[in-house]
Amino acid sequence: MNFLSKTKFSFKGRTVILRVDLNIENENVSPFHPRITGVLPTIKFLRKNGARVVILSHRGRPRTEAEKKTLSLKPFAGIFSNLLGVKVDFVDYKKLSAPSIETLAGIIKHSPAGAVFLLENTRFFKGEEENSEKVAKRFAAFGDFFVNDAFSVSHRDNASVSAISKILPGFAGLLFEKEMENLSAAMKNPARPMIVILGGAKISDKIGLIKNLKSKTDFFLIGGGIANTIFNYQGLPMGDSLFEPEIDLGFLSGLIDKKVILPVDVNIKKRSILDIGPETIKKYDEMIAKARTIVWNGPMGYFEKEEFAKGTEKIKKSVLKNKRAKIIVGGGETASIFCGKYPKNVFVSTGGGAMLEFLSGKKLPGIDALKRKQV
Ligand code: ADP
Ligand code: MG
Repeated sequence: MNFLSKTKFSFKGRTVILRVDLNIENENVSPFHPRITGVLPTIKFLRKNGARVVILSHRGRPRTEAEKKTLSLKPFAGIFSNLLGVKVDFVDYKKLSAPSIETLAGIIKHSPAGAVFLLENTRFFKGEEENSEKVAKRFAAFGDFFVNDAFSVSHRDNASVSAISKILPGFAGLLFEKEMENLSAAMKNPARPMIVILGGAKISDKIGLIKNLKSKTDFFLIGGGIANTIFNYQGLPMGDSLFEPEIDLGFLSGLIDKKVILPVDVNIKKRSILDIGPETIKKYDEMIAKARTIVWNGPMGYFEKEEFAKGTEKIKKSVLKNKRAKIIVGGGETASIFCGKYPKNVFVSTGGGAMLEFLSGKKLPGIDALKRKQV
């Protein structure tokens, strides 16, 4: 695998297609979100080495035209312009027909060294999520090299992550490398007890990882939509709560209340469970205090609304209070509550599902893809 940090290669006069992960769905994006600050070193490195940079990313799961409006990447052009001190040109690629794509490729090719372009949401193209070669070719047409700095998407076989690396020679970016290093080190011999705190909404992506992580983990502390899904499996009435009904949770038999710890009380409004309750916060706080390794992905409740943010905020406090533990937190929303600087024992990963899969020892298609075409 080629690492950007180790290359002696000159990017002078070359164009790099840089895949990052700007999958931050909050309406008001903080410029200090780890997914933004995390990729700045790679962009700076490439510019310093004379490259032009074309940034690709997905955002959310746009299905309807209305969703496409709220999931545009346009706001990020301004954010990156401010952070980099250079104008970042936003390209609404979906409006382009075949001849204008060639024109755009020409404009990019003739732009000065250090120029930065940001393309519209890759998921606006049919085929991105199906790992279409045709879509990957369109992205690849703008550049000479591919740099992947989207560790957090490496569990998905998408065109801008996977198929593109068959076409262009690729490097793992600086953030990608840092993620792999930190997560590998943490998992080598995790100090026990190890606690995994699991919440959030991407239930089918994550719940199965309990199975993969259970031998290393002493306790799973469950909240959010994951808890609701297990409650439903146990036959509790779920009203309008967020949960997934169709998941086979047979693998949990014998684990619940022993290794997999569920909320003992919840905050309900109307017909929905929206947060963990005070008794649960207390119980989890006591368990977290004893841990020596803590992995956290997924908020404990609907934390975007202040009314239901208490569980997530209190758990964050409990986690940070534990100075003796190695702490790994990650995920798009989870990282958004960890903007800024933290002590050395805390590693904020940009990955949610990818982080959990990597920690559980699974092979990630985005990592394998980077091994395909070497420079
Ligand atoms: P991450 O991005 O950190 O990996 P997810 O994407 O899986 O996490 O989930 C984050 C989302 O889960 C948040 O938008 C939060 O509002 C939502 N969420 C968590 N618990 C609940 C709940 N009980 N009801 C509704 N939404 C919830
Ligand atoms: Mg998320």
